[in-house]
Amino acid sequence: MQRDTLVFDLINQELQRQRHGIELIASENFTSLQVIQATGSCLTNKYAEGYPGRRYYAGCEIVDQTEQLAIDRLKQIFNIEYANVQPHSGAQANAAIALAVLQPGDRTLGLDLSMGGHLTHGSSVNYSGKTYEAHFYGVVKETGLVDYEMLEKQARELKPKLIICGASAYSRDWDYKRIRAVADEIGALVWADIAHPAGLIAKGLLSSPFEYCHIVSSTTHKTLRGPRGGVIMMGKDFENPFGQKDPKGNIRMMSSLLDLAVFPGTQGGPLEHVIAAKAIAFGEILTDEFLVYQQQVQKNAQAMAKAFMDKEYGLVSGGTDNHLMLIDLRNKNISGKKAEQALVKADITANKNMVPFDDKSAFITSGIRFGVPAITTRGMKEEHMGFVVDSIDKILMNADDEVVIASVKKQVNEFMTQFPLYPEL
Ligand SMILES: *Cc1c(COP(=O)(O)O)cnc(C)c1O
Repeated sequence: MQRDTLVFDLINQELQRQRHGIELIASENFTSLQVIQATGSCLTNKYAEGYPGRRYYAGCEIVDQTEQLAIDRLKQIFNIEYANVQPHSGAQANAAIALAVLQPGDRTLGLDLSMGGHLTHGSSVNYSGKTYEAHFYGVVKETGLVDYEMLEKQARELKPKLIICGASAYSRDWDYKRIRAVADEIGALVWADIAHPAGLIAKGLLSSPFEYCHIVSSTTHKTLRGPRGGVIMMGKDFENPFGQKDPKGNIRMMSSLLDLAVFPGTQGGPLEHVIAAKAIAFGEILTDEFLVYQQQVQKNAQAMAKAFMDKEYGLVSGGTDNHLMLIDLRNKNISGKKAEQALVKADITANKNMVPFDDKSAFITSGIRFGVPAITTRGMKEEHMGFVVDSIDKILMNADDEVVIASVKKQVNEFMTQFPLYPEL
């Protein structure tokens, strides 16, 4: 067959784009070359419905081993009893958790999307808001911190079956213990979605949810720096509280409900090429190098936050504990949408984001979210944050000036040549 140069040319153009630009989308990262190689491997050809050792297809002896390695390494990273590495994405992991613990119409309580939560935590445009009766807590207007009092009040009034913590645009650590206390009062399960900060949690740089949250989900491609995908975990397995029995009449363990909810509940054949890449990424996470990386992520985020505050940018919650920050642009007279569009012209990618109590729509927004996992992987240190923030500030203050934008773009492209990306490709 003829090589498809049309598609490969486009892939090469994307590689050049990634090399030349400053990547500040908080949910993105650059995987290692070996993760890319496994993702692009012949394992994509294999059907393996089921789980290692109990598949519905023949010829799974090898992928059984790669999948088992991924499971064992993930358990070792977080020192936990249960891991499912099959979810195709974070949203798929979350759908499986909902299917495992909820019936249609059941109540859930999660962080409001407009306050930093995720679509899969009950948004009306998502299955989670269409299938279940979703309720929300927010953040405190003055501090930008999760409103635990509101969470407790809502929990006691509404008695949701599931309390969801975790966020996509929240720069602070979570008080999992406090959430578990109110959940125990009302007999709810607690689910932590650590899609964003999982890499920092893996290395002990943020509090671990496993002691207090019954179920934990994550993506593997954000701070965990693996291939695009999801995982479901539990610190400790337990008998499912809904009385669901197996064919022998024994109460099923929660692990069994979760496994069934992934396959056959919400997915068919697992992506074994991606699972092999997850195993590789998990091996990388177990090294001390990954600790040094995550420490640098935190240092870079703090240096960047300080540089923005020195220029009088308003940070929601006044700073960051993790890898990202949310900036309220209202005192700078530019919308999130316009900021995002101007920055991308200078090869700086970041995404517009609503800020808590935003008066603009989700399409326009008053905020922009910046994250440092990707630029930290490129090799940037605290001393480089000044250049990054200066470049952003120049663009935002001259968002209609094509001459300024072109000159910043040139400087950005030159600056990035110091940080080679995939020289082997
Ligand atoms: C990114 C994210 C997800 C979804 O991950 P996808 O892989 O894009 O489906 C779920 N929950 C949270 C909190 C996220 O930030």
